Amino acid sequence: MRVITSTCPDCGTIVSANELEANRVMKCPSLGCKTVLAFDDLPDEERQFFLENREQYRL
Ligand SMILES: [Zn+2]
Repeated sequence: MRVITSTCPDCGTIVSANELEANRVMKCPSLGCKTVLAFDDLPDEERQFFLENREQYRL
C-alpha cells in the first residue's frame, strides 16, 4: 500500500493522510510545535490518490 504522509515544515514530524483527512485541519502532533497542518496542503495527486483509495486507508 502506498503510504501518504505530510511532513511538518517546522519540526519534520510526519502525519498520516488518514489523520489529516479525518481532521481536515489539525495542529502538528509534536509537543511545542504550533504549526497547523491541513489535508489541503497535500499535493493534488496525493490527495486524489488517497480519496480514490480511501477504503484501504481505513484503520
Ligand atoms: Zn511540527
